[in-house]
Amino acid sequence: MVAHNLGYPRIGSHRELKKASEQYWAGKISHDQLLEAGQRIRRDNWLTQQQAGIALIPCNDFSFYDQTLDWSLTVNAIPERFQPLAEKPSANELDLYFAMARGYQKDGLDLIAMEMTKWFDTNYHYIVPEFTQNQTFSLRSEKLFAQFEEAKTVLGAVPKPVLLGPVTYLLLGKEKEDGFHRLDLLDRLLPVYEQILNRLQEQGAEWIQLDEPSLVLNSDEREKLAYATAYRFLRERFPKLKLLVASYFECFGENLTLATQLPVDALHLDLVRCPSQLDDILNTDFVNGSTALSLGVVDGRNIWINDLSRSLDLIRKAIDALGRDRVLVAPSCSLLHTPCDLDSETDASGLTPEIKQWLAFAKQKLAEVVKLATISTDPNSEQAQTWLRANEAVLTARRQSTRINRPAVQQRVNQLTDADTHRQGAFGQRQALQHQRLHLPLFPTTTIGSFPQTEDVRVNRAKFKKGEKTLEQYEDFIRTETEKAIRWQEEIGLDVLVHGEFERNDMVEYFGELLDGFAFSQNGWVQSYGSRCVKPPIIYGDVYRPEAMTVRWAEYAQSLTDKPVKGMLTGPVTILQWSFVRDDQPRRDTCMQIAFAIRDEVVDLERAGIRVIQIDEPAIREGLPLRRENWAAYLDWAVKAFRVSASGVQDETQIHTHMCYSEFNDIIQQIADMDADVITIETSRSQMELLDAFVQFNYPNEIGPGVYDIHSPRVPTKEEMVALLNKAADVLPVRNLWVNPDCGLKTRRWPETEQALKNMVQAAQTARHLV
Ligand code: GLN
Ligand code: ZN
Repeated sequence: MVAHNLGYPRIGSHRELKKASEQYWAGKISHDQLLEAGQRIRRDNWLTQQQAGIALIPCNDFSFYDQTLDWSLTVNAIPERFQPLAEKPSANELDLYFAMARGYQKDGLDLIAMEMTKWFDTNYHYIVPEFTQNQTFSLRSEKLFAQFEEAKTVLGAVPKPVLLGPVTYLLLGKEKEDGFHRLDLLDRLLPVYEQILNRLQEQGAEWIQLDEPSLVLNSDEREKLAYATAYRFLRERFPKLKLLVASYFECFGENLTLATQLPVDALHLDLVRCPSQLDDILNTDFVNGSTALSLGVVDGRNIWINDLSRSLDLIRKAIDALGRDRVLVAPSCSLLHTPCDLDSETDASGLTPEIKQWLAFAKQKLAEVVKLATISTDPNSEQAQTWLRANEAVLTARRQSTRINRPAVQQRVNQLTDADTHRQGAFGQRQALQHQRLHLPLFPTTTIGSFPQTEDVRVNRAKFKKGEKTLEQYEDFIRTETEKAIRWQEEIGLDVLVHGEFERNDMVEYFGELLDGFAFSQNGWVQSYGSRCVKPPIIYGDVYRPEAMTVRWAEYAQSLTDKPVKGMLTGPVTILQWSFVRDDQPRRDTCMQIAFAIRDEVVDLERAGIRVIQIDEPAIREGLPLRRENWAAYLDWAVKAFRVSASGVQDETQIHTHMCYSEFNDIIQQIADMDADVITIETSRSQMELLDAFVQFNYPNEIGPGVYDIHSPRVPTKEEMVALLNKAADVLPVRNLWVNPDCGLKTRRWPETEQALKNMVQAAQTARHLV
């Protein structure tokens, strides 16, 4: 039985790629030095996989920025604006590549970067291909072939090139002009695949992996036809190459028959996300064909050890139906989405030994895949029995651990009542009470929470963490920063103030560190985009709030002023969404536990005299399942969790929520169901167009459409913001409108922030005169 892998993290186990690329961008290392850094990472990765016993080892899964961008270069889909660089004799290919990813302002050129968006439902971001009606494709980049040779040399064996499949590649892109559909370009794209496979075949490739994750999305007839056409085309031209189509992250749904009938040698299934799929396939006459199944049984999206006997049941079932030769064992998807190596977690102040034994990062997952292949080849061997016993012992220990189980927390979730999910009064009643109490003008002004996290703030926190500053010194510093921020907000005339979040490293990590049930690795980095990596907290147990988390700072900030200061919390769905979540209970239950912890914090803030409390939920939308038929169930519990967190307070306490995106069309009903008194959203870049969803829906509660794009250092003028407010006032009731930026100001610097917010306050004053 073949142990197989779809892709390996490319950041390096100590973020070598991040360091090297950032040094290259800063002009501190040369082009060759960057290439060497990449080569070292690839070599380490290949050898790690080989030593683990993986038989089919991927190549071309490495990328200096993003594999979709790599593919755009491979097939020469370079947007027009980058042509000057593409043609410039002095420009090297890598500079063109980074210009496409990050924009380019040099030598009289000012090129805007290509758009970036989330890769399916992961936190990885890819660079969106841009297509025009006259789009042509040709083979441009040699990287794929060079890396195949490189891997062959390092491994002394034939590697398996990973290609982005033609249909998914087109679907991931965007039409940059009207009048065509990107799938119309398939006929022009396929000949380039033919050329690529020809070259690989000449180089001695045997297996080719074609990634087609779009197969798990709801597909229309045009899309279905495209898959069928593409793979018929490739099969006819390459009867001898072994084609493996890899799809992951969900069930195939209505594409199941299509997927299983593709004329390929193997089909990869994500049996972690969709275990039922195996039976669905084995119950058809797929069994009478010759296509093999690659069983994705080791979770490539999470960090828990595998339940070996559960995986073995699936593998055995497949072997019984198909025979050994038609079964491969693999992680559920590329290991790109997991941290590199648990062995780098040496400091027990991060993961305790108890928790560590429950976890597997990428390298450990390889070992699990190999174990599974070995055990299913010879289940009765002594080795197999030892592995299984050890695995069972750890799983049992985890299930029974007192660190995981808090009966009181479980009971609270089980006894959730309808009353827990409702404010006392209806919105109209609450609004009247809140207006009476807060005395806000029309077009009240506020910000989203954070103020610039300056070098000074970060240095102070780092020193405190390293023990170079005492807690007292650190807190004195935070107090001073907070007071400055309050004084400054009063001075410029903002209406609802914030404390500035200077004490917070990150909006999820900060709460995770204060809640029980969360653990933090030291080195568990995962690529988010380009050189940016994140280190998600690990939720391992029932979530419990041992004591108030934000009350002290909120109370302090409020003590400095008569104006209302907003309490600032991260919502349960966002905390869930940006963490590694336990796999031993439904996400919904974990989310509800967090919701109760936040609810208690909200109530404590109210008790401490905080009149306005914001519960940020920027991740609610990205939590939407990939397949539409699963949306309702998710939204149901996500909205409920928010309501649980928000409903413990009196009617006169004003609850805000914040979401920094603006595609609300599909979920506007549920956003309204959250019943926040005020919602602030991102709209400035779309010139308020994205308010439409709220307008059409007659959104009843108060709303702050962002008037200031915080993603850019540019200072918006008062006039611009007045114009935006007028637009909003034309379509929404004026008494419901707030004035605020699109998002928090953490990443901005003070000079532009000061000027922009002054302009914003003046814009609100002007708008008040106009009504
Ligand atoms: N309150 C947070 C801040 O201002 C919200 C951040 C976010 O929406 N991503 O930083
Ligand atoms: Zn935001």
